Formats: sequence, C-alpha cells, structure tokens
Amino acid sequence: NYQHIRKPEWLKTDLKTNKSYNGLKKLMREKQLNTVCEEARCPNIHECWSERQTATFMILGNVCTRGCRFCAVATGRPSELDWGEPERVAESVEIMGLKHAVITAVARDDLNDGGAAVFAETVRAIRRKNPGCTIEILPSDMKGDYESLYTLMNSEPDIFNHNIETVRRLTRKVRSVATYERSLKLLERVKEIAPNTPTKSSIMVGLGETKDEIVEAMDDLLAHNVDIMTIGQYMQPSKNHLNIERYYHPDEFEELKQIALEKGFRHCESGPLVRSSYHADEQVNAASKQ
Ligand code: SF4
Ligand code: SF4
Repeated sequence: NYQHIRKPEWLKTDLKTNKSYNGLKKLMREKQLNTVCEEARCPNIHECWSERQTATFMILGNVCTRGCRFCAVATGRPSELDWGEPERVAESVEIMGLKHAVITAVARDDLNDGGAAVFAETVRAIRRKNPGCTIEILPSDMKGDYESLYTLMNSEPDIFNHNIETVRRLTRKVRSVATYERSLKLLERVKEIAPNTPTKSSIMVGLGETKDEIVEAMDDLLAHNVDIMTIGQYMQPSKNHLNIERYYHPDEFEELKQIALEKGFRHCESGPLVRSSYHADEQVNAASKQ
C-alpha cells in the first residue's frame, strides 16, 4: 500500500554543487571513508560541509548487521575491521577544518565489542590531530553491552548521542534489534559514567506517532537524564522503506521545540530538515553552558 503524499514546499531543497563540496566528496573517496551526509543524501550537506561546521562519518564499513525499516544503509555481511580508518578520519577532519565531528557506525553485532575499540581509537585519533574540534559519538546500542560502552566512554567524547528514533509504540516496527528501553538505559548509564558529558537523542516524526506519544518520549528521555533532543521529519529513502504517514508543518516543529524546552531539555533542534547532527556544533556549546 505504497501511498504517495505530495512533498510540501518547505522540504524542497536545491542540491547545489560547488567547488569546495566536490573537493570534499573526492577527499572521502581518496580516504575510503563513508559519511551519513552522503549516504543519506542529507539536504544540509552544503551548509554543513562548505561552512566547515560538521560532518558525520560512518565508520566500521557501510554494511550493517541490522535492517531498520527507515534506514538507507545496506544490510548484510559486514566488511573486515579496518584499523587504518581512525587515522584517515582524523586526517579528513583536519583537511576539512571541521569545528565539530560526528562519528557514527553501522551496528556490528558480528563483533564481540560491537566495534567499540576502533570507534574509541577514532575519537582519540581525531583529538590528537584536531585539538580544537569537538567530537560527538553516535553509536548503536552495542546490544546493551556496558563493557563496550566503557571502552567508548574512555575516549572522552564531548557529546554522547544515541537515537531512540521513534516513540515507544512504533519502535518494534521502525527499528531492528534495538529496543526503546535498552536505548533509554544506555543513555542513562552514560550519565552515570560521565556526568558532565552532554547526552542527546533524536526522533523522526511522520511515522504515525501521536503528539501525546512524542510528549511521552520527551518525558522518558528526561527521566533518563538526556540533555539534548532533536526532532526531524522522517523521509522515506525508497519505496521499500516505511511509508511517510504525515508531513509536519514547520509551525508544529516549533511547537514541539517549545514543549521540549519547557519540559527541561537544555537544547532542542526541531524542524523539517533537522537531522541528529544538524547544528551539532551549537548544541555542544549550548549544553555545556549550564
Ligand atoms: Fe551531515 Fe548531519 Fe550535516 Fe546532514 S546535518 S550534512 S548528516 S552533518
Ligand atoms: Fe541503519 Fe543504524 Fe539500523 Fe544499521 S542499526 S540499519 S545503520 S539505523
């Protein structure tokens, strides 16, 4: 029952290309790196890359052991671990002159540590080469394995991000393997390990959730001491992915943001094109000012 809902005006963006953007794409190929910015065809790529604000690197390969029904990343047998990757990411951050680097990874349920050792080494390599760059990590739930979480947290990221992606009721339909409770517990544990590290989580709207359920998700995140929330429109990557049930109007995103701030989040980005890493450099500043 593939239904076609017309894309509203506010989601139509120009994918302009310019020299700096093309150069950066070339750099990614040379360094054999994957970015979410490219894989997800993120509409903010020009703003993020050209203004050297931020980029989201996807490490540990581009094939995921999970198959979430909203996600454009391929599912299958993942690649060999690449211990050269941390250094290549660090060099790219330097060449791009980024203020803020986001490191995410495919879920590596095939590995005992979920890839945490390479992940942590990537954070350290970026730090060594780019002392002024803030680093945000966006790992999977690592199957709730706290040893892996400690490995990651020992690299001292500036911000810990883990997305619940959707409201409680829709989790089973939208995500694969991950559960709502396990993600909340993971976020809570991070705060126990590193009380001063801001935590952040994101949901997509337009998957059939109600407003009450969004508010419930806010309450649940706050109850697990999450500092920053981001809310964006779900976009269907292909007709094999979950349908878009509804487009939210920019005014509705603004209303959700106000609710989130009133409830006590230290920062909230909410808008049609908001992605979990959008304006992330500003979020880290806002969250550290208490
Ligand atoms: Fe990349 Fe995130 Fe910026 Fe999109 S919003 S271009 S994914 S850093
Ligand atoms: Fe995509 Fe992450 Fe789900 Fe893998 S675990 S399918 S990368 S959202």
